[in-house]
Amino acid sequence: MSEKLAETAPAPAKGIDIQAQVAVLGAGPGGYTAAFRAADLGLKTVLIERHASLGGVCLNVGCIPSKALLHAAAVINEAAELGPMGVSFGAPAIDLEAMRTGKDRVVKKLTSGLKAMAKQRQVEVVTGTGRFESPNRIAVETGEGTLRVGFDHCIIACGSSPLRIPGLPYEDPRLMDSTGALELRDIPGRMLVIGGGIIGLEMATVYSALGTAIDIVELQPGLIPGCDRDLVKPLEKRLKQRVRNIMLETRVTSIQSRTEGLAARFEGKAAPEGEMLYDRVLVAVGRTPNGKLIGAEAAGVRVDERGFIPADQHMRTNVPHIFAIGDVVGNPMLAHKATHEAKVAAEVIAGLPALFDPLAIPSVAYTDPEIAWMGLTETEAKERGIAYEKGAFPWAASGRALGIGRDEGMTKLLFDPETKRILGAGIVGVNAGELIGEAVLALEMGADMEDIGLSIHPHPTLCETLGLAAEMAEGTITDLVPPRKRK
Ligand code: NAD
Repeated sequence: MSEKLAETAPAPAKGIDIQAQVAVLGAGPGGYTAAFRAADLGLKTVLIERHASLGGVCLNVGCIPSKALLHAAAVINEAAELGPMGVSFGAPAIDLEAMRTGKDRVVKKLTSGLKAMAKQRQVEVVTGTGRFESPNRIAVETGEGTLRVGFDHCIIACGSSPLRIPGLPYEDPRLMDSTGALELRDIPGRMLVIGGGIIGLEMATVYSALGTAIDIVELQPGLIPGCDRDLVKPLEKRLKQRVRNIMLETRVTSIQSRTEGLAARFEGKAAPEGEMLYDRVLVAVGRTPNGKLIGAEAAGVRVDERGFIPADQHMRTNVPHIFAIGDVVGNPMLAHKATHEAKVAAEVIAGLPALFDPLAIPSVAYTDPEIAWMGLTETEAKERGIAYEKGAFPWAASGRALGIGRDEGMTKLLFDPETKRILGAGIVGVNAGELIGEAVLALEMGADMEDIGLSIHPHPTLCETLGLAAEMAEGTITDLVPPRKRK
């Protein structure tokens, strides 16, 4: 099929520099996956990206560099906590430039790999900012002029940008978003993190390990709103030992740029009196879709008032030959959602029967401890009156968790009381992000309590806490006293 499709690629029409069967706008995890899949299906594909390096926010200034820094933070913390096992180290010597280089090396390895794979697949990469000019043409400002890409189909994968609180002095480089925080310019003495969500807490984890005194201010009554409170509790407890202050139900009313620092004023439940001075401030209050930045109206593509581009389960917008994927389509704004939507869009264009219909999209906060959840949450079940049975296994009863000195974790599984099938899972503890994959597979495969409990998990591991949580629900557990007897 692939050769046949490629042969039908039309020659560029007048006013068009490159003609593609598929033009992909944006080369983040969604965009490059869509382009590569389309090319693998035999379609002549052009990938348009404003930055020189492929990979988007995730690879360049998001998921990947943050995980490299979080790894360093985890090792610093682990080393400092080995005292009870009779091992003590001196204070870490931190060479910031080497840390930055190390992080950049990781990013470069991945982004140069993408470049090579685009070449292998004959995906033509156009570097520049693209805007629709018509339903079949995108003009790309390349820096050396305008290049016009004509297309039969287009996949919009233009992503999202950090949300800004109006009225703050953004011209001051000490006021940062996640990109600025990942640049790691220095180790600030005092830093304010605005927003106790995933980005705010991941960055607080990195900077606190490096020695910064951190204050966190969060509008809502708890950290990571939307996540079950029992999962957040162990994280909050540990954070309280590592950061200076967590101010819940509080907001920043102003920030002033001064020579000696950024002066912040607050209001709300935990607001300090007067102003507080910081060397740096991180704003991490969410992200906003980039749908309004691409001239979508010229193509007739509908963009909602917030900047999202609605798409159906085939990832098709209101214009049948134009598709949209990733952050710009809607929440959750996660790379793994984007890559799956990307494959659906490319396959539908190639005529394959694909549909985006996941039963669960996992979320992970790569904090210390990590929190991961998928499917139905307990909070949601209660709010929506959904009946469930719960199996929760405290890591205090896990030999492996005790062995690594991290027994504050918990694994909980929710089941349908009728069918006993898994409905949702939440894990807090080290490596929770690695462990949640099993629960996603169980849900997608329709596994029930018994399937999970009877699957032999290796001992002693953290993954066996999933089997033990299922046994807790079933009442067959022997490592703890079962909450109820098996019928
Ligand atoms: P978020 O929505 O996770 O958290 C933002 C937090 O800021 C919320 O807790 C919110 O209540 C709070 N907030 C909003 N306005 C505020 C104000 N004026 N003052 C104080 N607090 C305020 O957003 P984020 O952490 O910025 O992350 C953005 C997106 O990126 C999310 O959609 C997330 O899914 C994604 N992301 C994911 C990961 C991951 O998967 N590990 C990591 C980073 C980012």
